[in-house]
Amino acid sequence: MAIERVAIVGLGLIGSSIARAIGERLPAVTVTGHDASDAVRAAAHELGFCDTIADDPVAAVTDADLVILAVPVGRMADAAAAIAPGLKADAIISDVGSSKAGVANALAAALPDHVVIPAHPVAGTENSGPAAGFSTLFEGRWCIVTPAAGASEDAVTAVTSFWQALGARVELMDAAHHDMVLAVTSHLPHLIAYTIVGTASELEEVTESEVIKYSAGGFRDFTRIAASDPVMWRDVFLANRDAVLATLQRFNEDLTVLQQAIRRGDGAKLEDWFTRTRAIRRSIIEQGQDDAAPDFGRKH
Ligand code: NAP
Repeated sequence: MAIERVAIVGLGLIGSSIARAIGERLPAVTVTGHDASDAVRAAAHELGFCDTIADDPVAAVTDADLVILAVPVGRMADAAAAIAPGLKADAIISDVGSSKAGVANALAAALPDHVVIPAHPVAGTENSGPAAGFSTLFEGRWCIVTPAAGASEDAVTAVTSFWQALGARVELMDAAHHDMVLAVTSHLPHLIAYTIVGTASELEEVTESEVIKYSAGGFRDFTRIAASDPVMWRDVFLANRDAVLATLQRFNEDLTVLQQAIRRGDGAKLEDWFTRTRAIRRSIIEQGQDDAAPDFGRKH
């Protein structure tokens, strides 16, 4: 299944990064972009990462072999409905949403006559918008593809090959399992970061300026995640509610265990726990999912 024309709906961090990566790695592929925002379309035009920018979602997808929806999870259904009248009969529709089961259902309901192969590139930064994207975002990162049972094998292969061409490693996964895995590896860490940064800024005994001044003690590493896009993350928590709540329940239990160890002066328990977590950091570096430079490579 040859992909010669790609349409990208939503030209923020992820959509614009896909367009830039295509420009570098698949120069023969034509990219048409569309975004609901006039300002984003104007910026995308200026930045020049698409061959064409369409003002209208229907015009954007006409002739596209592959359409990628790169809008917030809560906007996927609307975006799918808006492109439906313009799609070629054999077009493949995919997305990049951070939660998969709900999005897959929404896309299947909005596009019952089309091939939908959902995907999630597990790559991003705390920035959003078309200027935040870059062509190497997906290099060496995983992209999880979550085809429904019975999905066209040719279409799955086409989506897999597409992401591999952008430098990603691809894994196929059931959508519900994806949501559980990402609840642990992404959604809960974001919730914890949002919590701790909010809590620290509202303490009575410690002023906000002290929190900022002494943030190198650890706090600032949470602020990167807590600076992530509020709309995107609102939608992720609403869409992946069950898996997040299940993981949060487990987290609260483990927090109580550590709380108890501190109260009881159980140093062995704490040391044992922290030794295990340090090993996880080492595994992430060994598997090429982060840089080995100490302190995230900050200059000292
Ligand atoms: P972003 O930078 O905020 O870009 C999203 C863009 O989509 C915005 O310009 C938005 O315009 C536009 N949009 C919203 N509704 C639309 C619609 N119905 N039709 C066309 N355009 C629409 O967000 P992002 O970080 O690229 O995230 C996009 C998707 O990627 C989300 O589903 C997210 O879960 C997923 N994702 C994000 C990351 C990450 O780290 N950021 C990583 C992996 C996957 P307005 O601002 O005017 O609404």
